[in-house]
Amino acid sequence: MTILEATLGLEIHIQINTKSKIFCKCSTKFGEKPNSNTCVICTSQPGTIPLLNKKAVEAIVKTGLALNFTINKQCIFARKQYFYPDIPKNYQITQLDPPICSNGKLIIISNKQKKIINMKRLHLEEDAGKLIHEVNNKKLNYSLLDLNRASIGLMELVTEPDFNSSEEVIEFLKEIKSIVEYLNVSECSMEEGKMRCDINVSVHPVEDKKLGTRVEIKNINSLSNIKDAIEYEIKRQKTIIVSNGKVIQETMLWDAKECVTKSMRFKEDTLDYRYFPEPDLVPLNLSNSFIRNLVKEIPELPKRIKLRFIKNYNLSEHLATYLISKKTIADYYEKALKTVKNPKIIAKTLANWISTELSAKLNSFKISIEDSPITCKNLAKLVSLIVSGSITRIIAKEIFEEMWKRSQPPEIIIKRKKIQQISDELTIIKMCEEAIIKNHNAVKEFISGKNKAMDAIIGFVMKKSKGLANPLVVNKILLNRLKKL
Ligand code: ADP
Ligand code: MG
Ligand code: ZN
Repeated sequence: MTILEATLGLEIHIQINTKSKIFCKCSTKFGEKPNSNTCVICTSQPGTIPLLNKKAVEAIVKTGLALNFTINKQCIFARKQYFYPDIPKNYQITQLDPPICSNGKLIIISNKQKKIINMKRLHLEEDAGKLIHEVNNKKLNYSLLDLNRASIGLMELVTEPDFNSSEEVIEFLKEIKSIVEYLNVSECSMEEGKMRCDINVSVHPVEDKKLGTRVEIKNINSLSNIKDAIEYEIKRQKTIIVSNGKVIQETMLWDAKECVTKSMRFKEDTLDYRYFPEPDLVPLNLSNSFIRNLVKEIPELPKRIKLRFIKNYNLSEHLATYLISKKTIADYYEKALKTVKNPKIIAKTLANWISTELSAKLNSFKISIEDSPITCKNLAKLVSLIVSGSITRIIAKEIFEEMWKRSQPPEIIIKRKKIQQISDELTIIKMCEEAIIKNHNAVKEFISGKNKAMDAIIGFVMKKSKGLANPLVVNKILLNRLKKL
């Protein structure tokens, strides 16, 4: 039996987060009143001249550098002709050859294996407007056109057909999303259409060198839909090939409700677009110093930060992955560590508190970490108190709640709430004596060598003192006392 292999290649559009559009001064703000962010240029009025946004060029060059592309310092823009109502001038300004960036590489890890994904090109182009076919879930018998999105800067990234599974594709997309976010060149949210992905899928017998006929699935709007669409389409093509049929080259759409790919149109040839050099824009000519300055602006990227966190702070893979999931979280963590003398001591506990208590609060109040009422410095102080054994976790949680409400440092709250640790030995000895009498079994077990039994005895004292007894003192006194038994 022949073994069939799936091959996948991606075309990704990423909206650049410049304040203004790529060829005019209109705002790129999302969700504004339809057609309010428009002017004579982005509504394609005859006789208007596009003016290139320098920030958009900077954004794509930074992205290209971060993804190991070759930057083509001399390149031009091209007109891609086609008729569609969302682009009234009947052509899109884009790039053909050479694109601003070519031959990139990104290493992904999928199934614990490293794999290099090669990327053909990363180029600049303008977005189209948006056609609206329904209002309030009601299908219209006409279409509305919103040109707010028209002429917003896009980066188009085209990969080589280097993927063999949906897992690899998802890993790659997550990695791209994260890098782009760290570079702060796009919000990259798929829900808002700021990152859109077309997927090319083909299937061929492993022994064949030649790849199979590809089908393109357009504009799928979430990672989970991408995964489903790929898996469905691979299965569909395998079924055709197994029964000696032929896969036709076509463009399909993913129907997320019915969970099937549906034919949209037969793939038109690239030649149909009749590309020619854009006469209204001068060729791009990037200087070495322009590129050097951008190199300096590239921050440490998430993969490196993660390895550093694991190595320096002995964090688990899981915890480190959480911390780097957003640049703002990683920044908060590192800033917090910088406020204490010996960061290594609190690093792990701090990471835990950020990923559990703090993230739960931020999520439930829909606040992002940079606006957290608990500053990184104050959280570091609280965690230091826990790690040094000065306060128990129970007390720490109480203080944490107050810190959240009042945005105050822990020492002020401790003072005001009269949360007084009991460190007075006589008081603690009394409670320990009672614990020994009332936890007869645990004491016996401890004496017979079961160290874990101590937890129950300490637990009794902590409960008795409503969590106020200094755990270090309790531990010391109990050990002393039990030795003598
Ligand atoms: P075109 O210029 O016709 O759009 P490209 O060569 O630029 O074609 O490829 C477009 C996309 O399709 C790329 O992401 C590429 O990786 C992918 N691709 C090309 N051939 C195949 C194939 N046989 N199977 C799967 N993907 C493919
Ligand atoms: Mg193409
Ligand atoms: Zn405009």
